[in-house]
Amino acid sequence: MPLYIHLFIHFILAVLVGIYFGWRLKNRWLGITMGILGGFLIDLDHVLEYFLVYGLNFNLQYFIESRQFLTSDKIRIYFHAWEYFPIFLFLGYLFRKQKCLKIIFFTLAFAGAIHLTTDVFINKYEFKYYSIYYRYINNFSAPQLLDTADYQLNQEYKIKLGI
Ligand SMILES: [Zn+2]
Repeated sequence: MPLYIHLFIHFILAVLVGIYFGWRLKNRWLGITMGILGGFLIDLDHVLEYFLVYGLNFNLQYFIESRQFLTSDKIRIYFHAWEYFPIFLFLGYLFRKQKCLKIIFFTLAFAGAIHLTTDVFINKYEFKYYSIYYRYINNFSAPQLLDTADYQLNQEYKIKLGI
């Protein structure tokens, strides 16, 4: 699937989750904003990953090629984690009397979980791949986290790029 379609699916689902919670909790724009943040801008951890590997000199071409994952052989993607779901639900419950916080936490929880579910299906990764604890105990290491065939593809891509 082309990346733009993948991102478009994320965006549509993020907005829908936002509209739903915005409607339920009667603050449409806060709902939509949090939906986009939790369900779409969550992918900004790929940019964060770039800075962690290359520091502050940004090269758009390198970023498009996902070089940050290839040169480091690490997959951190800190925002992609099932673990945030129960945390945000708990916070939403804790702050249930404060309408805005309730909207923020519930929308982030569901928008994020739906994003990860979409990623599991589209990227064909296992459920556990999107557990930050699982990635942590595997040292965020690509050869440990990816199955042999996927890692082999990475290796071939590296050769192609001359890394
Ligand atoms: Zn994602």
